[in-house]
Amino acid sequence: MRVGILGGGQLARMLALEGIPLGHHFTFLEPAPDPPAGSLGEVVDTAYDDPAGLARIAAATDVVTYEFENVPASSAAYLAARLPVLPPPAALEATQDRLAEKRLFRELDIPTAPFHRLDTPDQLDAAVAVAGLPAVLKTRRFGYDGKGQTVVHSPAEAAAALATLGPGLIAEGFVRFSRELSILGVGGRDGSRVFYPLTENHHRDGILRASRAPAPAATPELQARAERLAARVMDRLGYVGVLAIELFQVGDRLLANEMAPRVHNSGHWTLDGANVSQFENHIRAVTGLPLAEPCVPGPAAMVNIIGELPDPAAVAALPFAHLHLYDKAPRPGRKLGHVNITGLGEFEVAEGVRRVSELLPG
Ligand code: AMP
Repeated sequence: MRVGILGGGQLARMLALEGIPLGHHFTFLEPAPDPPAGSLGEVVDTAYDDPAGLARIAAATDVVTYEFENVPASSAAYLAARLPVLPPPAALEATQDRLAEKRLFRELDIPTAPFHRLDTPDQLDAAVAVAGLPAVLKTRRFGYDGKGQTVVHSPAEAAAALATLGPGLIAEGFVRFSRELSILGVGGRDGSRVFYPLTENHHRDGILRASRAPAPAATPELQARAERLAARVMDRLGYVGVLAIELFQVGDRLLANEMAPRVHNSGHWTLDGANVSQFENHIRAVTGLPLAEPCVPGPAAMVNIIGELPDPAAVAALPFAHLHLYDKAPRPGRKLGHVNITGLGEFEVAEGVRRVSELLPG
């Protein structure tokens, strides 16, 4: 099948790397030069809302998917009128705006931190009263990797943050979580559904640094609860493809933080740690192949390579480490690749993560 991907970054690259063996051909819509996916198919290098670029994608592909959620709604609508766009464009609307996303969670009875919209100074009192202090103020749109958000400890700090980040903010209660988890679900075109084991995620400065899966000590009950939450979202959106929901665990409660209608950094470990990766299952889903039930033979971990590249030979010398590079030029804060760690026992994985982390500059 001819698959179009909106975006040509590392997620598109890994989707294509897993989709090519299934016999698919890829075309990417990506305005940036030298995209990571560029060597794996045709690149249409126009803006995401360029009519000629969109027409080219519509003509050259049988199904369109995307690697990021900020696809212009008009582009998704144009394409959806001509061929299947999966996950469905409703998933884009639900995830482009943090306020809409939190409202959807609330409507579906999915617990979240308390939240309130915050656009103007006259909403400050209500926002602080609902969110409490400290609060996290986030831009509703285009925030990623911790950008466009700040923690405030007083009404004065909230007012100052509104002045610099606002308008268009959401104020959320600061969650003192015991850990961060994510659940990845996959919906098939035939209505089937599979889930990966809960993944434990570690962030620094708002950027995912490392993941561990299955999340240590996650009970079957916790897994089932996370799956039920994700299933509610997938039911509502008629979901096809991979959906990732980031969760805060507080005691034995799960609060939804945000979701992504796409393959997700916290699922990169599945490339080596599961019988079927999130990328392959996403491609299976959108192209109408049967989904594969994930089977995870042992513990796995993932460490992101951020800003600077390690010596590849040093990583490759570790028998439990699998190096994945995205063909991107180093730049501070930029995700350049990741290392998956597999084949170690439950108690050796942390040591494996430490040994890999030592090889990563920065
Ligand atoms: P986000 O962009 O919403 O994924 O936030 C990035 C990271 O900031 C999260 O992974 C958390 O580590 C932290 N964070 C975000 N929202 C909250 C919150 N309401 N309470 C505590 N920490 C948060």
